[in-house]
Order: sequence, then C-alpha cells, then structure tokens
Amino acid sequence: MYLGIDLGGTKIEAVVLDPLGVIVFRQRMPTPKNNYTATLAVIAALVSMAEQKFGSFSSVGLGTPGAVSQVNGAMKNCNSTCLNGRFLREDLAKLLGKEIKISNDANCFALSEAVDGVGKNAQVVFGIILGTGVGGGIVVEQNVLLGVNGIAGEWGHNSMPSEGVKGMADRLCYCGRANCVETFLSGPGFAKTYCEHLEAASEHRNTDQNLTAKQIADLACQGDQIALRAVDCYANQLAAALASVINLLDPDLIVLGGGMSNLTLLYNKVEAYLLRYVFSDGVKTQIAPPQYGDSSGVRGAAWLTLSGG
Ligand SMILES: [Zn+2]
Repeated sequence: MYLGIDLGGTKIEAVVLDPLGVIVFRQRMPTPKNNYTATLAVIAALVSMAEQKFGSFSSVGLGTPGAVSQVNGAMKNCNSTCLNGRFLREDLAKLLGKEIKISNDANCFALSEAVDGVGKNAQVVFGIILGTGVGGGIVVEQNVLLGVNGIAGEWGHNSMPSEGVKGMADRLCYCGRANCVETFLSGPGFAKTYCEHLEAASEHRNTDQNLTAKQIADLACQGDQIALRAVDCYANQLAAALASVINLLDPDLIVLGGGMSNLTLLYNKVEAYLLRYVFSDGVKTQIAPPQYGDSSGVRGAAWLTLSGG
C-alpha cells in the first residue's frame, strides 16, 4: 500500500493506492489559510485516518505546489506562501515519525502517468502542466529526475524559440525575463494570443476581449475562425517549445496536463508541427492526454514512496 498526499492551495487530499494502483482510500480536507502549523495538523489527521484503516505506513509521499530549495532545504516558490522558508519535510518527518518524500506537483503528475498511466510502458516520460502556469517533470524508468539544482523539467521559463514568436509583441514574464514559454503556453498566455488575433482582424475589434482559455477553446470547437487561428498559433508554439526538449531528452512520451490539455484539437496539430522542428527525419515521441487527469497529482505523490523520488 502506498500513501500519498497532495497539498493544494484550497484542499489537502490523501489517497492510499494498492499495489495495482487502485485507490482504496481517499479523503479531502480544506487547506488552512496561511497557517503552517494548522496545515501540518491536517496532514497528520489525514495520515492518521489512513492508518486507522490500513495500519502503519513507513513513508508518506507529498506533492506540493513549490519546491525544496537545494541551497538550504527549505520550501520555496509555493503559492501557499505560509510554506515558503519552512522545512516542511523535516517538520513532517518529526511530527509523523516517518520518512517524507516530497516532490512538486508537475513531478507528481509525470510520475503518476509514468508508473501506471498513459506512460506505463515508456522508459522516459516528460509530463507537462499547461495551466495557470507552465511546469514539467521528467521520469526515467519510473523515477523522478530531480537534478542537481532541483529544476529538471522546468521548461516554462525557457525562452520561446523564434519560430513561435514571429510577428508577435514581446511578453514580459513575472520571472523578470521576456517571452518565456509560460507567457505563451499557459491558459492566460493562450487567451492573450486570442486577443491579439482578434485585434488583428479589424471586423472583430472591441468584441469579447476577456474570454477565458476554456471559452476560447469552446469557440474553436464550434468552428470560430479566430479561435481556430489562436489554437493553430498555440499548437505551433507548443511544438517549437517541445522540439527543443525532444532534441535534448528524446522522451518516449510527452503527457499533457492542466486545463489546456483538454483541448483535443491540439494533439494532431502539435504532432504535425513537431516534424518541422525536431532534428530527426521522423518523430516517434507520442503526445498524449493524461489517463488520470485531476487525480494525477495525488497518485504521483503516493508513487513517490515506491520510486524513491
Ligand atoms: Zn519567466
């Protein structure tokens, strides 16, 4: 049995997986707002509930929104800011008397899909999150690749290759650089691209400028020409950005997560564009939607206790 906990901004979820990956226990509790001690207490309560049912676990996997600093071992980059600067792994290990395995949510997503999801037969899986932000995780033979800086897979702040930005205005990123992959491939980035296409088509000037990525995707599915152009632009950018990853890592599978992964129009288009950009006469890398969707984070957290991540 494998116990995993997904520490999110609004809820903390625990699951127990059996050796076949079947969820045999699932429990959610709200995340205490800006209260580190209360957050630890909720995690402890969830572990206790699981243990009442299944007996003691020697280790717990934890998926978090941020990362463990390789400089001092404290949490960093968490949008639940009360975690930042805290020694979460050590504090939980002390509180629970167990080994705690922590990884960020993109790594957990990639691991979940690599162990028993769409990538279960793949040697190298690159899992990417295309949501409010853009993240990624690399799993090699069912182990999360962390890297010496703890940033393996973090392609969201690479620069978008020039093929993806032709004719487009520069986009400043919160990280301080311009034209990061995230500024184009996040949901808000896609919405901005749609607005730019609307403005370029003068007959649509001053119409719906504030649609969400989901609403634009729905328009594209209904055949709206400008939304389709924005999707095509996005697919080209995604392919250009992924080609540099494929040239370096050459993964068997790239699994897409986050809100933009629901856009089924995307997959064939990206595969077609990849042929232009990857340094090879053919591209065998499969681009696929996830098997487990929203459950991937917490499933991957559980599998951390299997894989040593
Ligand atoms: Zn950036």
